[in-house]
Amino acid sequence: MRLLIAMVMSLAAGGVSFAGPDPILLLSGARVLAADGRSWQTGQDLLLVDGRIARMGPAGQVPPPPDREVLRLDLEGLFLIPGLMELHSHLLLHPYDETPWETQVLKESLELRTIRGSVAAAATLAAGITTERDLGTEGAGFADVALRRAIDSGLIAGPRLLVATRAIVAGASYGPGGFDPRWDVPLGAQEADGVAGVRRAVRQQVRGGADWIKVYADYRRAPGAVSTPTFSQEELDALVDEATSAGLPVAAHASTPEGIRRAVLAGAVTIEHGYGATDQVLRLMKTKNVMLLPTLAAVEAMAVYRGWDGELPEPATVLAARDLIRRALAIGVRIGFGSDVGVFDHGDSTRELELLVLYGMPVPDALAAATSVAAEVLGLGDELGRIEEGFLADLVALEGDPLRDISVLRRPVLVIKNGVVAFERRRP
Ligand SMILES: [Zn+2]
Repeated sequence: MRLLIAMVMSLAAGGVSFAGPDPILLLSGARVLAADGRSWQTGQDLLLVDGRIARMGPAGQVPPPPDREVLRLDLEGLFLIPGLMELHSHLLLHPYDETPWETQVLKESLELRTIRGSVAAAATLAAGITTERDLGTEGAGFADVALRRAIDSGLIAGPRLLVATRAIVAGASYGPGGFDPRWDVPLGAQEADGVAGVRRAVRQQVRGGADWIKVYADYRRAPGAVSTPTFSQEELDALVDEATSAGLPVAAHASTPEGIRRAVLAGAVTIEHGYGATDQVLRLMKTKNVMLLPTLAAVEAMAVYRGWDGELPEPATVLAARDLIRRALAIGVRIGFGSDVGVFDHGDSTRELELLVLYGMPVPDALAAATSVAAEVLGLGDELGRIEEGFLADLVALEGDPLRDISVLRRPVLVIKNGVVAFERRRP
């Protein structure tokens, strides 16, 4: 089996030079996550043809089409789940303990950042994340669109990307900050002011290739300052209206009650971070079915970078995040899988799911957040997030049961994207 997989991998890596269709994969022997996401089906064969799960059925009763090369993969003893879907990444950033965010934005070349981004994309896919919503290039222009195109064409390895390009911020509200007001410094996002200004920014990003619009509904106006709302309700309404006209959903960075409230009322689909949310705005989110992406792994990473040893007592930021999850779960807000990876190492995103479980989310709900629930929010629920006939063949095989222990997601054995083996871990 290993030799066969190696052969497929070389085809996948060389994508463009391989003429003809990818070989058909026949997966057998695995426990397969049922469509309800809460139980396992055994004795099923899966036939992957031209990027999709063409057939599922009892072992030995799923005949492959004739005249095509077939690779049979014996997954006996493994647990097969849908490819993971991460909803808040920054492929164009690398960990802040390597290089502070300001230095990355101000001093690293676009070329170096894009090369790093392609390496990050490969690490992400190898970690079992087959789809990723990347929420802003942080000063790297439209490099996320280039990464998406390079991945889609088979030039480089990476997850299926949905990208937000530059993110939209109100004038004089984003970083890098702390400079004398005389200086104009390059920013990590695109400034826009007024109704006409935000509409124009959305139009520019749509033309540049954005799949989502990311807006900062609040931010700290200076280093170390507390966050305050930035855009007016009128501006946010116009921004969402313009994005909606173009068929794009909106993700809003917001952590103040008023920032969250305005973004939700404007029609944002997801709220990023949300730490200062009152119960009142959490109830508003619940009513409007808006998803919370709490980016817990980034909170933890930042606390560690500032010197926290991971032991008790937990720093205030970690306690606030823990408290947010407790209240959001009690109120019934939808909580998603978005880690803000880039703040920490690409490939380590599933730390977010471990923290969600640690803070009170049931394990099957955490797995759903990374699969079926994420697919729904991305508008891809009819072909991703579950293992069903006709769905795209994005699959991850694991040695342990992720419905019992979410940490088994850390070490996938096999990752398949679009019906092609993208990663295989050597096992003793
Ligand atoms: Zn972010």
